[in-house]
Amino acid sequence: MRCIAVALPVPLFRTFTYRVPEGVAWPIAAGSRVLVPFRNRPELGICLGETEPPEGVALKPIRAVVDAVPSLPEPLLHTARWISDWYAAPLGLTLRSMLPTALTHASAPAPAGKLQRVVRLVQELPSLLQREQAFARAKQQRAVYELLEAQGGLAPLEALRTQAGCSAGVFTAMAKRGLIEIRDESLERDPFADRAGVAPPPNPSPAQRAAIDAILAGDPGQVFLLHGITGSGKTLVYIEVLREVLRTQGRTAIVLVPEIALTSQTVDRFRGAFGDDVAVLHSGLSDGERLDAWQSLRRGERRIAVGARSALFAPLEQVGVVIVDEEHESSYKQSETPRYHAREAAIVRARAEGALVVLGSATPSLESWERADRGQSVRLTLPDRAAGAQLPPVAVVDMRVAVREALATRSPQAPYDPALSVLSPALLAAIESRLTRGEQSLLLLNRRGFAAFVQCHACGDVQVCPHCSISLTYHRVPEALVCHYCQYQTDMPVTCPRCASDKLHRRGLGTQQVETLVAERFPEARIARMDVDTTSGKWAHTQILDRVGRGEVDILLGTQMIAKGLDFPNVTLVGVVDADTGLNLPDFRASERTFQLLSQVAGRAGRGPKGGDVIVQTRMPQAHAVRHALTHDYVGFVREELGARRTPAYPPFVHIANVVVSGVYQAAVAEAAAAAAQWVTTLMQRQGLRDLVLVGPAPCPIDRIKDRWRWHFLLKSSQPRLMTRVAHYIAARCPVPKDSDLRLVVDRDPVSLL
Ligand code: ADP
Ligand code: ZN
Ligand code: ZN
Repeated sequence: MRCIAVALPVPLFRTFTYRVPEGVAWPIAAGSRVLVPFRNRPELGICLGETEPPEGVALKPIRAVVDAVPSLPEPLLHTARWISDWYAAPLGLTLRSMLPTALTHASAPAPAGKLQRVVRLVQELPSLLQREQAFARAKQQRAVYELLEAQGGLAPLEALRTQAGCSAGVFTAMAKRGLIEIRDESLERDPFADRAGVAPPPNPSPAQRAAIDAILAGDPGQVFLLHGITGSGKTLVYIEVLREVLRTQGRTAIVLVPEIALTSQTVDRFRGAFGDDVAVLHSGLSDGERLDAWQSLRRGERRIAVGARSALFAPLEQVGVVIVDEEHESSYKQSETPRYHAREAAIVRARAEGALVVLGSATPSLESWERADRGQSVRLTLPDRAAGAQLPPVAVVDMRVAVREALATRSPQAPYDPALSVLSPALLAAIESRLTRGEQSLLLLNRRGFAAFVQCHACGDVQVCPHCSISLTYHRVPEALVCHYCQYQTDMPVTCPRCASDKLHRRGLGTQQVETLVAERFPEARIARMDVDTTSGKWAHTQILDRVGRGEVDILLGTQMIAKGLDFPNVTLVGVVDADTGLNLPDFRASERTFQLLSQVAGRAGRGPKGGDVIVQTRMPQAHAVRHALTHDYVGFVREELGARRTPAYPPFVHIANVVVSGVYQAAVAEAAAAAAQWVTTLMQRQGLRDLVLVGPAPCPIDRIKDRWRWHFLLKSSQPRLMTRVAHYIAARCPVPKDSDLRLVVDRDPVSLL
């Protein structure tokens, strides 16, 4: 009897054996999709190869082999097995996450998005002054304008009308004035399809040449850490390596970037160099478009896959190089099963392909840095900026001092100016000088909304989300209190719900507030804001960045989104409004993240011949993440941070796994977490596992999200094999009451412990 092992997309740590009836072509290649009966329904699974029939069991036959050519080539199967093993994720679920959605259903993909009546902003009024003139006698139009702008300039008409609470006539009037356009369109179009590429610089510098040559001389499977400071020209190194791998070796390539929409400049350069050989796999693709892109790679019509995390699973054969740009980015870790890290999985796939790996960053993760220290990867350095540019000087403003001085010098009659504690005189003067010279400024504040929380001045009560242990953020346009974890929204109360006082203070600075303060200060400046709220439209990021590139924006302000990879030569000032927003989070990576963010955003300044400056406002100038960022001293930071990770031990010195138990009832969750921890402790004792430490259990730092309470404990071990074994034991066997809402998740190599 012919039998195959099949992986099915179910949360079970096992495979299933099916019989292959006569008449089906044999053998069936591993990696092919097969249609099989499962729990009385047809289900798509992946054939893993021939297997022995088990004794005394009546096997069901497969219904059909769906693929003529296996959907998953052998190196991808290998990668899936590794992910399943390392992250304790069921193999069937892992394999399914590697395929485009359209291939995971037995039916054909859904047609492209339906048309919808939408409003599009056509005339931007980016400065406060323009806006006040345009809407002097049209308050409702102004409200519509600001709502539309806040949503990235494109919104469904009905939703917008409800938010603004106005009649359809307001829209007609605005359309007549040429401010907006009303039309029927699909909100999903692929803007990369008609974007022009950008030609790369013609000749690599000697430093770039040296890096290119070293990489191309690497052995199959070798990992390179390309540590190149911001603006050192890492992209050209990638491009030249790809050129060689494609032309001379006739092989293919994968390029991972943290997020396509935010790195459109980088993607444009790859398209400029390789044109139609590039398949851009981005989240804006419909299922059908994604399938097209996938098939063109599978058939070898395109040889370069560029995309975020999941582009690692591009169905290319003969992969010659895998590039992971900005390898330190935490978005490379998937936050649901399988919880893989694309950087680590990239190394595994490259080994299986005999391909080179290039991990690039100005601020490498400590894991990658330490890997190079141990000799498991080769470190290459680009110590200088390309084309003679210099790293910008960074000045620090201690806001404790700045605010004190500002208060001391203002006249007692003057009304309190909220800008005082937000924008120091030094930063204001710097922005002003850029405006007069026609240069551009970037302002970073890594917190969106208007105010981080609302607090009653009388009783101290803070408005919190009814579903999460998180304070609600005050948003001004549209006005609401919003939970950033579950998107719950409610009206801003007029009086304190607890003591009825009407003194509700909006506290903690957000980007909307900075925008308001900057606009009031510089009414003629053209300002654009980029954060989650202004980029809800899928391509809003790209639109905003293109406007900056065309010089239509004087001041771009935003969250960490504006810190990623932007290359605008006319940006001569970067201001960090508050460097401290992430420093005090209860997470061992808080300092690393802050240092990376500050270094990356500082690296956006001075990329052109005009040079540039960086001003960092902080109340913690002594923090090592801030101190080393001021001198662009990555190595100094790493040395100090590595020291801090030794005791108590944290990665990269130990492997960790975060075990999170969640559920609806607080007491049940606490009990289940304690029981799970006890179960692990017993396991450790019984098996004499000495090199394993359990820390906890304790409530998670955010102990309730979306109506689920959360407890966790940490496992630490210096032996990866042991960690793998224990993680599997827990994921597969830990006794969590089955018939309850309780859930247990094992997150190995977590990037966040919140
Ligand atoms: P990184 O990614 O390392 O921060 P980029 O790849 O964005 O740096 O390059 C920074 C800038 O330098 C880009 O505008 C790029 O076109 C330019 N550049 C890179 N290499 C060269 C070179 N060899 N000659 C001239 N300009 C270069
Ligand atoms: Zn109160
Ligand atoms: Zn919430």
